[in-house]
Amino acid sequence: MKLRVLGCYGGNVPEHGMTSFLVNGTVCLDAGFVSGALSLREQVRVKDVIISHSHLDHTCSLPFLIDNNFSLPGFSLRIYAIREVIASMKDHLFNNHTWPDFTCLPNDLTPVLKLVEVPEEQPFEVNGLSIRAVRVSHIVPTTGFVVENRTSAVAYSSDTAPTEHFWEVANRTRNLKAVIVETSFPDELQDLANVSGHLTPQTLDLELRKLKREVPVYLYGAKPRHLARIRAQVRALGRRRLRFLVQGKTYTF
Ligand SMILES: [Zn+2]
Repeated sequence: MKLRVLGCYGGNVPEHGMTSFLVNGTVCLDAGFVSGALSLREQVRVKDVIISHSHLDHTCSLPFLIDNNFSLPGFSLRIYAIREVIASMKDHLFNNHTWPDFTCLPNDLTPVLKLVEVPEEQPFEVNGLSIRAVRVSHIVPTTGFVVENRTSAVAYSSDTAPTEHFWEVANRTRNLKAVIVETSFPDELQDLANVSGHLTPQTLDLELRKLKREVPVYLYGAKPRHLARIRAQVRALGRRRLRFLVQGKTYTF
């Protein structure tokens, strides 16, 4: 499985795109920076996008991914998420106010956008990948995902405060090759992390005690303003298999 990091930050400044990963060149996992990171030719190959929650740093490039390619003959996009996240995107994003409702365009019969509700915990298939949505602990309905092919699995937490079930699922995933987990704020902003449903290096350290598998753990989601502090505090944890995702890099799992 190839996972290309399109963006891995919790905010947007030059050279720092918001959370999105491209799996095997065609499936996007969250969409904070898809249109900012991919050429038009690469965007056309994306047919499926898996969305963890409605927050803009995970969704804001969806309108432009569609708008950029809408006029291409045969273009279509499927967005997969749990029921509450689909409802939120219908109500607040593709609502004909924030952006056109592409689920009815160019017409009701052959719309370019299909919003697909997925079950929690039950695997669903997307272009050769088996994906499971696992509920985590954020301030809006949010799931992480376990993404698997025949030989490898990656568990992605999405945005979360301290949580339990995600780690239980990761621990019993047979072919687990890596975990991607968030760390948004430095320790001194623990109160802000608590009220916004995020992790700091010190709460990350407690979370990682729940992971019983010897796999690399990759971090994403740092707020650009606090990047240096977060990096220093994560380094100070002294955890061997812990590293930051690198934007633009493709990882093979
Ligand atoms: Zn969020």
